[in-house]
Amino acid sequence: MITGIAKTPSALIVGSRQIEIKDVHYLWGTDLQVAGKVLRRMFPGGGHRTILRIGPAGERQSPMACITADTYRHFGRLGGGAVMGSKKLKAIMIHGDSSFQLPEGGEYVKVFDKVYKDMTDTDMMSKYHNLGTPGNVRLMNDLKALPIRNLQATADPATEGITGEKFAEAALLRNAACAGCPVGCIHIGFVRERFQDENRYIYRQISYDHELIVTVGSMIGVMDCFEVLKLIDEAEKMGLDVMSPGVALAWATEALAKGIITEKETLVPLAFGNSASYIAAIRHLAYGTNEFYQLLSQGTEKAAAHYGGGDFACVLGQEMAGYATGETFFVSQALGLRHSHLDSGGYSYDQKPQGKNVEDAVKFLVQDEKARCLLNSMVSCLFARGVYTDEVLGNCLRSVCYDILADNIDTIATEIQRLRWKMRVRSGYQPENITIPKRFTEITTWKGPLDRQFLEALKTAYGQRIMDLAGIEKGA
Ligand code: SF4
Repeated sequence: MITGIAKTPSALIVGSRQIEIKDVHYLWGTDLQVAGKVLRRMFPGGGHRTILRIGPAGERQSPMACITADTYRHFGRLGGGAVMGSKKLKAIMIHGDSSFQLPEGGEYVKVFDKVYKDMTDTDMMSKYHNLGTPGNVRLMNDLKALPIRNLQATADPATEGITGEKFAEAALLRNAACAGCPVGCIHIGFVRERFQDENRYIYRQISYDHELIVTVGSMIGVMDCFEVLKLIDEAEKMGLDVMSPGVALAWATEALAKGIITEKETLVPLAFGNSASYIAAIRHLAYGTNEFYQLLSQGTEKAAAHYGGGDFACVLGQEMAGYATGETFFVSQALGLRHSHLDSGGYSYDQKPQGKNVEDAVKFLVQDEKARCLLNSMVSCLFARGVYTDEVLGNCLRSVCYDILADNIDTIATEIQRLRWKMRVRSGYQPENITIPKRFTEITTWKGPLDRQFLEALKTAYGQRIMDLAGIEKGA
């Protein structure tokens, strides 16, 4: 646990027999690319060393700031970067300078082989390896469930320019993987930049995913894969959780068009599809150039409360994720523990033909969240949830002698879920205080217009169930 605030901007170095705090004041204000280059030189040893760092957005304590792990992975949503910024902690270096002895017997190897085979020899993970999550863009568009131009639309033929297929065909350079993962679902594209008149170019490698393509693509009307990569690159350099600025700028664009704000606030002519303006706006957001961007970087909801335009702020607890699938997803992100699409699979429930049953939907959300609590606690990848069944997880635990855990998986998952909600409620969470803006109720998907009654009933019932989980009685 990291307590207190450093006197000067610092880096924390952690190894199995080492803890050190280093003054890195000269890195304060640098973007993630510059900070990464310097830190990698200071602390060589790729593969067994990981570097977590924040950019200008985290230093300014914006709730949109993420923590970037090495280059292509992030702790996103709900402002982890702001927490590091508040402690003047620019970076954390973790050295993997030790190893664990495997238990005697061949159980671990057997379990490892089975998991490895399921991951690589079956088609369970092929969708992640092939197109990756961007494969969802066309799927969502076909379902009329893709957030487009601040959720003014849910389908548009122009999205063909940013589908997973389009990225693969035009911009994909290579796949990469988290440490030790044989799947390699990280898709890395490239952008070229001319740096001299005499046809001199550099190219940069940028990872892309469904959520990023939606939020700095279709949500702001940018339908060209290379323009989307440039926007992702800019947001990454600023240390922003890419999803939040995209949605915030989509709101600002509509607010500007409606005359709620002017160019005096936005500084650039925000207009759907104008990627050059959005690149400039992302920098303004990270550095808090004027009062408007300072407020917007605190969250779209805050800016809308000040200027107006709350009805079309696409906020579900925080800026929305890339699924306009309907009632269950909107309720699950709005009320979810981290207000994240990863809290539970509301978007997949919406796509099942089960009708509108409040009790059934709440049951699904609670069960699905519980399964994810367990996987997250085991630092397992949520994409591999089809491979890591409870039985496989039990075998994994047994192979390293955690027999008690293995025999009580369900009880332990229930307890983790309960404790998380208890902590969340203690920190001031009140489901009845969370509103779902009008814009979400105005959409039409492949199922037809959104059912407002079902949405409200589900929100009330799920909120009550969450309070039950946290051990809070009705009316208390
Ligand atoms: S661990 Fe998960 S996110 Fe990382 S490369 Fe593997 S499948 Fe992708």
